[in-house]
Amino acid sequence: MSEDSSRNRIVPVLVPMPAERPYSYAVPDGMVIGPGSIVRVPLGPREVAGIVWDTPTDRVDAKKLRPISEVFDCPPLAEADRRFVDWVAAYTLSPPGMVARMFLRAPAAFDPEPPLEGLVFAGGEPERATAARARVLELARDGMAWTRSGLAHAAGVSLTVVDGLKAQGLFETVKIPPPPVVAAPDPTYGAADLTPDQRDAAGTLRDKAGGGFSVTLLDGVTGSGKTEVYFEAIAAAVEAGRQVLVLVPEIALTAAFLDRFHDRFGAKPAEWHSDLSPRMRERVWRQVAEGRVRVVAGARSALFLPFNDLGLIVVDEEHDPAYKQEDRVYYSARDMAVVRGHIGGFPVVLASATPAVESRVNADQGRYERVMLPARFAEAAMPDLRAIDMRRSPPARGGFLSPVLLEQVEKTVARGEQALLFLNRRGYAPLTLCRVCGHRFQCPSCSSWLVEHRFRGQLVCHHCAHTEPRPEACPSCGALDHLVACGPGVERIAEEVVGRFPDARTIVLSSDMLGGVKRLRLELDAIAKGEADIVIGTQLVAKGHNFPNMTLVGVVDADLGLANGDPRAAERTFQLLSQVTGRAGRTGRKSLGLIQTYQPAHPVMQALVSGDAESFYEREIAERERAGLPPFGRLAAIIISAATRAEAESHGRALRRAAPAAADISVLGPTEAPLALVAGRHRFRLLIHGERRSDMQGFVRAMVAAAERPRGSVRVSVDIDPQSF
Ligand code: ADP
Ligand code: ZN
Repeated sequence: MSEDSSRNRIVPVLVPMPAERPYSYAVPDGMVIGPGSIVRVPLGPREVAGIVWDTPTDRVDAKKLRPISEVFDCPPLAEADRRFVDWVAAYTLSPPGMVARMFLRAPAAFDPEPPLEGLVFAGGEPERATAARARVLELARDGMAWTRSGLAHAAGVSLTVVDGLKAQGLFETVKIPPPPVVAAPDPTYGAADLTPDQRDAAGTLRDKAGGGFSVTLLDGVTGSGKTEVYFEAIAAAVEAGRQVLVLVPEIALTAAFLDRFHDRFGAKPAEWHSDLSPRMRERVWRQVAEGRVRVVAGARSALFLPFNDLGLIVVDEEHDPAYKQEDRVYYSARDMAVVRGHIGGFPVVLASATPAVESRVNADQGRYERVMLPARFAEAAMPDLRAIDMRRSPPARGGFLSPVLLEQVEKTVARGEQALLFLNRRGYAPLTLCRVCGHRFQCPSCSSWLVEHRFRGQLVCHHCAHTEPRPEACPSCGALDHLVACGPGVERIAEEVVGRFPDARTIVLSSDMLGGVKRLRLELDAIAKGEADIVIGTQLVAKGHNFPNMTLVGVVDADLGLANGDPRAAERTFQLLSQVTGRAGRTGRKSLGLIQTYQPAHPVMQALVSGDAESFYEREIAERERAGLPPFGRLAAIIISAATRAEAESHGRALRRAAPAAADISVLGPTEAPLALVAGRHRFRLLIHGERRSDMQGFVRAMVAAAERPRGSVRVSVDIDPQSF
């Protein structure tokens, strides 16, 4: 599209709505816009921000056309970002407007950041010389523009001193650009001395940085220095003047990552996650668009920042389930990062100690290059992992920790080292029941039990956050003091630990801790500094942290994730338990991982204990291939939800009847979804299974188009490549 401003020019604008196509708008005379321009347009009775698109729209009735209201003074969304929107929309079967919406999440950023007021020394002498005034003027004589607070701070005086001098006419005011959210990274700042293995790996990544699109799987055990190695890839991209995105699964908890980045590059990356203040989000968004931010470390949604010159994406812990978004647009950030690299023609690095089976197969089949780091850095050895057979050494009555584990905790604490007890379950107990009548506390709007949180005295639904006080009497039979907690959560393990080791310093970490991310960061810091003896935590403590003094990890219930019948359960459990036991032994000392299980012969336990990850992967891969499951076959899920069970099921049946005939694709269901009731909505699911080359999107699109439109409360969502199946 040329930037002519001929009369009656019509452009397509993608608005942040579930619309299949861009809408047409008239360009007022004299308005200069092009593809990617961010504009304000009328939409019904409102105005919204949209993006000028470059696919032609349908013919429109010129009389009905409404004009664009305003072009924002904002860099246009780059061509590669626009192609990314189209691609993600087509792949996930989402309306392009809903994908574009993810790029438009910081409305105030479309207008430029207001400049700051700067003070420039205008010459002259103060009316009355004081030491404080002299210090200010000495600095100001450099002729630079200072902010009022910057000058006061640098001179070590109060703001009133600066204001006083300003009132005397000693300064001219000028406009200065808003400061960057982060300083520029310096690729040579703190380069580490790499080991030979690391140097080889870094060399491969640096070579790729010079070329076009590639995917490298950086596969190295926990503590092998993957971060140090991919820092070299980042350095190469920064040297080449490109922008870099590092995706991390749990950014709110990675203060330690930001510090390490600072040690290496002399500046922090810009952060992007849901916990940022709105003001900070806007500034980061704007400065990424302007190219002023060079490196972003963020959660999955950072893929939808308006990079104008993205040249590298690193996906750390690429196997992590947190990369999957299951809301509105269902996408895998890991997979979409690869797509973004392909569109932008730049390298992508996937790092993990326990890669996803999909990534391993992609590497085995030559689509990705696999770079390995086989050993931990320096003296650090992998922890010695052992299974505790809970049938042989059961816990004491009312407890959950086997005597074998308790003995090791005691020894560890006695040596002045740290122990971590891991249980991936928040709260006190996952189920509460009445011993007299058998009443169970269930969520009124979900098919799940209420979890007791004893510290708060509440019963909580972990799916919809429904909360009620824990009563004294059974609501069903009225019996007093006969409610019992069944099974453990981290709070209950903490209770057992405190009972056993009353003198040890204990910290419980889980995502519902009061005080949020800030408090969590403080606690993690305290653990790293050795200010706790025993840590009890959920998966929050499993991810990426370096606790130098931790030499024992106990897994309280290794079987927890294996029970749900999902074909991915073994892979997930292996990944999670490798990661959590990998917290032990980060520095030279001998370390131990103890895994409590009722199934010590299970392949996952065997793989962990023997350290033979290769055989485990081979077995998993063979099983997937035999069953035609991803990545050897393809899956899609259609989730139908409605206010009543009957409506959901009936629409599921209608969709199934609308399935086109295809020899290579089969439809299963509708069956009740694994969580059949969530927040008062009943859910059914159709599972669609195809071959590797099947056109899943075409099939699902045809099915949805042929079925009657969802009516009433019925909603349909499509999940291409569902995580659980
Ligand atoms: P991974 O990401 O593979 O778990 P890390 O990059 O976190 O491993 O490295 C583990 C620890 O070893 C970190 O504390 C890191 O600083 C240290 N380390 C790794 N490689 C080096 C190196 N070449 N020089 C100095 N420290 C290193
Ligand atoms: Zn609920």
